[in-house]
Amino acid sequence: MHPAAAALLRQIPSVDELLRHPQLAALLEGGPRPWAVKAIRRHLAGKRQEILALPAEALPTHLPVEALVAELAQVLAEAARPSLRRVVNATGVIIHTNLGRSPLAQPALAQLEETAAHYCTLEYDLAAGKRGSRQAHLEGLLTELTSAEAALIVNNNAAAVLLALMTMARGREVVISRGQLVEIGGSFRMPDVMALSGAILREVGTTNKTYLRDYESAITSQTAMLLKVHPSNYRITGFTHETPLADLVALGRRYGLAIMEDLGSGCLLDLSRYGLEREPTVQEAVATGADLVTFSGDKLLGGPQAGLILGKQEAVKLLKGNPLLRALRPDKMTLAGLEATLRLYQAEPQAVAHIPTLRLLTKPLSEVRRDARRLARLIKRRGGARYQVEIKPSLARLGGGALPEAPIPSCALALSLPPLSPHQLELRLRRAKIPVIARLEHEQLLLDVRTLLPQDFPALLTTLTEIEGTLLKY
Ligand SMILES: *Cc1c(COP(=O)(O)O)cnc(C)c1O
Repeated sequence: MHPAAAALLRQIPSVDELLRHPQLAALLEGGPRPWAVKAIRRHLAGKRQEILALPAEALPTHLPVEALVAELAQVLAEAARPSLRRVVNATGVIIHTNLGRSPLAQPALAQLEETAAHYCTLEYDLAAGKRGSRQAHLEGLLTELTSAEAALIVNNNAAAVLLALMTMARGREVVISRGQLVEIGGSFRMPDVMALSGAILREVGTTNKTYLRDYESAITSQTAMLLKVHPSNYRITGFTHETPLADLVALGRRYGLAIMEDLGSGCLLDLSRYGLEREPTVQEAVATGADLVTFSGDKLLGGPQAGLILGKQEAVKLLKGNPLLRALRPDKMTLAGLEATLRLYQAEPQAVAHIPTLRLLTKPLSEVRRDARRLARLIKRRGGARYQVEIKPSLARLGGGALPEAPIPSCALALSLPPLSPHQLELRLRRAKIPVIARLEHEQLLLDVRTLLPQDFPALLTTLTEIEGTLLKY
């Protein structure tokens, strides 16, 4: 070891000394904790490695202890923060699976807290004074909203599809169009889920066209189900033909087969009323008389992660009897959040006003533009004088494998903070106390305003002020 390196290593304070440093002691109110000692040791070990890796001529003679303490303060603050935490979604992707899909509506949060903090009626029938079913809480509400005969909730839509296929078609054939053998979000591939369920995939038609006669000619004594899957995050355009669900239901009735549709996102509202593309609703799918219709709780519905299964009494009853349901059952927090979310759908204006996912999606462009101007003003006034802000037209997306990727008009702030590069600023935003997830496009940092929730505005300003404040130090 070079003598200069050895001298520098000797200047590193001991863990005990560091723990007594006022700045760090203040962070560890009540005395040092084992996790903090470990975090400091780890950081110091890294420092030693760094020094040993430097060429002799690059070695400083003096170790800046105050800078080391500042680094450790950051390390400790970071280690004390939860790993799963809030972020500001400035990506413009409304249902962002990586960012937790749908933020919950206020009534859902309140109901979730109320039931999670106390004992609750999860499996207790108050009228009878004895054991009840966790599925009973939502079935009435769901059948009322959709006119389905019966309903069942599982952990997510993937679980719903798995349970349905296994119950209705294990060891038998399921007929599906080649155009609907989709992969959603990387981990849900229809052929894989089918294999896992024990059902045998029987693909018909071509990628772009599948007619009723294609389904019919595939039916044998081994056929159990005709399945339709929403292609969700992709779309085939041009020379295409898709068989309507109602035609499949009629065909299925003639041959005594089960009919199921995996709607993916499953919207309870007609979005064309808000200037968006028309998507078949859950109610329409149910009204065809399909035996089972499944969709997610945390996509367009705007609730917690869940899989909703609606359908005919007889089919849902079979699913309820499958022992696999025990492994897929939702917990009390899911049910509480979902019940409160679904109650909002009892009046459409209420749903659109209070469910964040629907609110962000249906917000008129004029309002998004107004938010962008207000935010730009606030940044100049309160975020720090060195920010340069420009309002740009942007295209947001629904995301989450929900609707096809039709772009949604939006506004973005192109933000820069010289001398930081857009990449450096993006990194600072991502590493902030309340991380801001932005978009980098054509060497520009963009904050899409459509996906900002009202409470994100103050958080964003705080983060921007902090970043500007640290600029001098680097
Ligand atoms: C999203 C999606 C799924 C998976 O739903 P999860 O709730 O994420 O499990 C399944 N099928 C389709 C068509 C989807 O769009």
